[in-house]
Amino acid sequence: MERKNAWKKYTKEQIEEIFEFCEDYKDFISNCKTERECVTETVRMAEQSGYKDLKDCIENNIPLKAGDKVYINYMGKAIALFQLGTQPLEKGMNILGAHIDSPRIDLKQNPLYEDTDIALLDTHYYGGIKKYQWVTLALALHGVVAKKDGTVVNIVIGEDENDPVVGISDLLAHLSADQMAKKASVVIEGEDLNVCVGSMPLISDDEGEKKEKELVKANILAILKEKYDIEEEDFLSAEIEVVPAGKARDYGLDRSMIFGYGQDDRVCAYTSLAAMLQMEQTTKTNVCLLVDKEEIGSVGATGMHSKFFENAVAEVMNLMGDYSELKVRRALANSKMLSSDVSAAYDPNYGSVMEKKNSAYFGRGIVFNKYTGARGKSGSNDANAEYLGELRRIMDKHDVNFQTAELGKVDQGGGGTIAYILAQYGMEVIDSGVALHNMHAPWEISSKVDVYEAMRGYRAFLLEA
Ligand code: MN
Ligand code: MN
Repeated sequence: MERKNAWKKYTKEQIEEIFEFCEDYKDFISNCKTERECVTETVRMAEQSGYKDLKDCIENNIPLKAGDKVYINYMGKAIALFQLGTQPLEKGMNILGAHIDSPRIDLKQNPLYEDTDIALLDTHYYGGIKKYQWVTLALALHGVVAKKDGTVVNIVIGEDENDPVVGISDLLAHLSADQMAKKASVVIEGEDLNVCVGSMPLISDDEGEKKEKELVKANILAILKEKYDIEEEDFLSAEIEVVPAGKARDYGLDRSMIFGYGQDDRVCAYTSLAAMLQMEQTTKTNVCLLVDKEEIGSVGATGMHSKFFENAVAEVMNLMGDYSELKVRRALANSKMLSSDVSAAYDPNYGSVMEKKNSAYFGRGIVFNKYTGARGKSGSNDANAEYLGELRRIMDKHDVNFQTAELGKVDQGGGGTIAYILAQYGMEVIDSGVALHNMHAPWEISSKVDVYEAMRGYRAFLLEA
């Protein structure tokens, strides 16, 4: 039961279209390397497509009706888009969901220190990373500093080609006898992921200043003060993420793949959003839900466990003049969802952890994972066979290449997604998405035709489910 390679169905002209779509995707992941940057860009794209801010509608009591398009920006880190259908909301929605947070390294609250005339930033990594992959790379700083007076300073350092980059050092090969004998999980330890940011003392004409200690750190603080008007204490209320510096690029001599940071899960977020923004009005209400904190368990106010989405559904129904507690519950229970997250694409270099009949492959289209989980499917949302049957019909009708897969061999490991959280409402949910090589590494790889088929699959779902 081998699945077909999607490239083969396309003409040269169509392949150019695929590549063009992927240029926009590459721009998105090159410019949006934090959940906040993803939300800001999503708002921009949504407004361009005629979406209005739900918060404005609530505040000004603006009624909503079929055909209207609204979004809710939740704390700048999660967002939901609604395109209202002609059918009452209680009949259910078609929901595309994905997460926009990615594995990375966060600065600690008190990060800056000096050691032997080197200025460093202390960090706490975020999500499941292999720490040894993050040393000796060009890294960038992205994030916000919230000052006491309420102003929020945006920071991006290391992306412009004239910007400096920062990085985490590794031990030289010549002195690595002890290090090389260690287990890979402790070759680089979490507490040692310190980002080097400077080595030059503050140059000053002031004799008193010259005698002060820690002048390298003082110099960094002077630069931050001058460029961003921030003080050392302002780090206490900052969210700064250390991410790989540089743009996404074509990968492979045939340019068939994309090499980029944060494709888990922005590849599903972007393709879901692209499908959503292209949609004409349908009978059912369409939703695109992009959330934060998946990589650390979907917790917090902007993670999928938060009630912000349920509350937004209630607000939308209220503005449509159709609210009751029971109707909100029905709207959620009657919904269908593609909960999209990345899958592991079969990698010939690491074939031993995969079971070939039930692996995802580059080039074979959007992936459906009936279940995920580990140790006997534990923690997984096991989608209903009937729902999968419906999805097969929809994908085949629209000639979308799809494949089914598990994440690796039984008992080899596993992973979770947001699927089970939405399933708690009683709606039909399945894990779907795009397969990657290098998942959770600084640079992840996707196949261009899979990115394209995912977008086509989402569009087909919104039209037909
Ligand atoms: Mn993910
Ligand atoms: Mn992940």
